[in-house]
Amino acid sequence: MLDARLWKPLPPPGGADAAGTAASPDADATRVQCRLCSHYCIIAGGGTGRCGVRVNRPDVPGPDESKPGAAGSNAPDPTAPVKAAPVGRLFTLVGDNVAAVNLDPVEKKPLFHFMPGTLTYSFGTMGCNLACSFCQNWSLSRPPAEEGVVRGQRVTPAKLVAEARASGAASVSFTYSEPTIFFELMTDTADAARAAGLATIMVSNGFQSPECLAELEHRIDAANIDLKAFTEHFYATQCGARLKPVLHTLRTIARMGWWLEVTTLLIPGLNDNPDELRDMARFIRDELGPDVPWHLSRFHPAYRLTDRPPTPPATLERAWEIGRGEGLRFVYLGNMPGHPAESTHCPACGALFALREGFHTHLPASSRCARCGAVVPGVGWDTPEN
Ligand code: SF4
Repeated sequence: MLDARLWKPLPPPGGADAAGTAASPDADATRVQCRLCSHYCIIAGGGTGRCGVRVNRPDVPGPDESKPGAAGSNAPDPTAPVKAAPVGRLFTLVGDNVAAVNLDPVEKKPLFHFMPGTLTYSFGTMGCNLACSFCQNWSLSRPPAEEGVVRGQRVTPAKLVAEARASGAASVSFTYSEPTIFFELMTDTADAARAAGLATIMVSNGFQSPECLAELEHRIDAANIDLKAFTEHFYATQCGARLKPVLHTLRTIARMGWWLEVTTLLIPGLNDNPDELRDMARFIRDELGPDVPWHLSRFHPAYRLTDRPPTPPATLERAWEIGRGEGLRFVYLGNMPGHPAESTHCPACGALFALREGFHTHLPASSRCARCGAVVPGVGWDTPEN
C-alpha cells in the first residue's frame, strides 16, 4: 500500500474548500476525492473507490513514496505539526505489484502503425474503473471491486524497466486491465523507461480525468483507446461510465500528439447499428484525423454477457466498409485471424503495404508505398534493418 497521487481532501462539515465548495452538514471530515478518473469518487474514511484499488485510510502510517513537491503529490508534510483529528489519506493497493506481465508483439495491443514488428514489455495490475458487462479480462479487472481481492507480484519501476531492457523490448506497455488505476506505477515506470531509451504505450478505456491526462502528456508516446460505443446509454448500462469523458480524452490525445489508434469491440445488438458506427467513424475522421487507425474487434461471449453469439464476420465487414466509406484510411478487423483486413494497404493506390499474419507483420522496406511512393503514416516504419 503506497501513497496515492491526484486526490484532494474534502472540506470538513460546515467548511468550504479553496474553491468555495461547501460541505454538506453530515459530511465526514476524513473524506477525500480521487481525481484520477472521471468518476471523481468521493471516498469516506475507511472506504474504497469504485475501482477497488484506491483506499482512504485516515492517519494510517505507510511507506510514503510520493515525491515531495512533485505535481499531483498530496502526501502530508512530514514537518507539519501532528493533527489531533484524523484526516483522510488516499493509498493505492496497486502501486507496487503487477498481476500480468508478458512480452508481446506491439501489434497485439493493438498498435499497427507504431514501431511495427517490435516487441513491447507489457504489464498490468488488478482492477478497473469501469465495470463492462462484456469484459474480456474480467478475472484481472473485477476482483478488487467485487471481492476486495488484489493479487500481484511485488515490483519496482526500476525492476520492470530492467526486465524490459533485458527482454529486447523496444517499449513498455501499460495494459491488460486499466492503467489509469495504476497511475503511480505507470508514471514512475514511464519516466524510468524513457530514461532508458524505451518508448511508452498506454492501452486504456479513455476514462481518465483531464488532470490525469495532463500528468501523462509528456510520459506516453502512443496509445490505443477504446471507443466502446457512441451512445451515453451504452456506456451507462454496459460499463457504468459515460461517453463524454472518453471523447474528451480522445480529442486531448490527438492534440497532444501521441501516436493514437482506436479500438471498438463490436457486440451483436448493442453497438453494431450502422448509423452509430457511421457517427463513430465521422467523429474519428473529423476530430482525430482520417489517418488514425480504427480497429474493429470481434466479440466473444465473456463475463456477464454470455447471451449472444460471437460477432458474425459479415457484421465486422459491414462496419469496415462504413469506416472506409466515411474516409478513414486505415480500418482493421481484429480477432479475425487470416482476414485481409488485418493488413495495411496504401491509402493512395491500394497496394498491399504491410502483410499481417496473426501478430506477425511482414515489414515494408520503408514508410513509402513500393508502388506509388505515397507515405503511410506511423512511427517506425523506417527501421534500421530496413
Ligand atoms: S481511479 Fe476512478 S474509480 Fe478509482 S477511486 Fe479514483 S476516481 Fe474512483
